[in-house]
Amino acid sequence: MGLVVHKFGGSSVADTDLIKTAAKRAIETKKGGDNVIVVVSAMGNETDRLYELASQIMKNPPSREVDMLVSTGEQVSIALMSMAIQSFGQDSISFLGGQIGVRTDGYHEKAKIIGIEKEKVEAALAEGKIVVVAGFQGTDKQMNITTLGRGGSDTSAVALAAVFGADVCVINKDVDGVYTADPRIVPDASLLKTISYDEMLELAGMGAGVLHSRAVELAKKHSVPLRVRSSFNEKPGTLVCVEDPNKEQPMARGATFNKKEARVTISGVPDKPGMAATILKHIAERNINVDMIIQNPGHSGLADLTFTVPKSDLHETLGVCREVSGQIGAKDVTSSENIAKLSVIGSGMRAYPGVASRMFTALAKENVNIQNISTSEIKISCIVAEEDCDRSLRAVHHAFELDKVE
Ligand code: ASP
Ligand code: MG
Repeated sequence: MGLVVHKFGGSSVADTDLIKTAAKRAIETKKGGDNVIVVVSAMGNETDRLYELASQIMKNPPSREVDMLVSTGEQVSIALMSMAIQSFGQDSISFLGGQIGVRTDGYHEKAKIIGIEKEKVEAALAEGKIVVVAGFQGTDKQMNITTLGRGGSDTSAVALAAVFGADVCVINKDVDGVYTADPRIVPDASLLKTISYDEMLELAGMGAGVLHSRAVELAKKHSVPLRVRSSFNEKPGTLVCVEDPNKEQPMARGATFNKKEARVTISGVPDKPGMAATILKHIAERNINVDMIIQNPGHSGLADLTFTVPKSDLHETLGVCREVSGQIGAKDVTSSENIAKLSVIGSGMRAYPGVASRMFTALAKENVNIQNISTSEIKISCIVAEEDCDRSLRAVHHAFELDKVE
């Protein structure tokens, strides 16, 4: 007998009819002979509503109380899900994260899972029950309720799948799977049958909202196959798994964009050891994520350092940069919010020459100005003006023939 973890996101449990539909899918898997753990998010936009309530009370509510509040969304959905399963004659039991020993660190609103106890869940599975677990939450050492950050129930599901050795973790969503690009912007985007963990990580990290990055990281680390599929139809969706080394990979498997970042440039930085380290250390101390770091040695012993940060952290970043610039004798700090980062991703890139020039040619033909470029082994990213983003994405998607990739 195998084990399947079924995760249902907010829009898949947005009302009681949808909860019943989801319950039927879990029961079907159970009847097929596998044990089943169901992980649910809060119903629809419930988490947003709870955050909004908190903001009506005060501007920066204490995060311990925020977690106490926003974790309740999932308590409602696990209870309803377990009732729905039982209403169809299948035995089941619901648990909050803390009740089954989902232990996290103490960083409220962005906690990380450090361990999950096995006894309770194993006992319930052994009794033939479907076990329904609240996603997005755990408890720290002091039994404070913690949450894992927005979208965190994907991570809960993968962590449970890893700990209990599930054969697959099915992420049931309101989309059919992972596309080569956002189909709302690129109408001929194609639905992928498979994608490797590394490619999915790059896509998730670059802004494609299908899966939580941490969930993919965890799945990769523990080799948990993920199936991303729709809860509204029977299509098989996309399998996120280890790459088949014997199969020839397409040059690219996806294109995505991120409009949520801003660019910061510190110019006239003394060109000597330790400068970039000093600047970035001060930013890291504020827990701000830096991406796309580019340094250009300029004239007369001075260099320019450019990087991107989330727009929501720009104000704080600029404050830090101005302070540090003063200390190290840099000339100027400037920033731009009118940018979008466009990325093409594919592990097949390793094997093909001319990948970067294909992207640049496509953008040139569209008359789009490329402002910055960075590459990794399986990704090329360009910063373009935000207003050029959508047509750039279509152009790049076309240039890499992503409409033909499956
Ligand atoms: N309910 C939480 C949120 O909306 C967790 C999740 O949906 O994954 O962020
Ligand atoms: Mg949600």
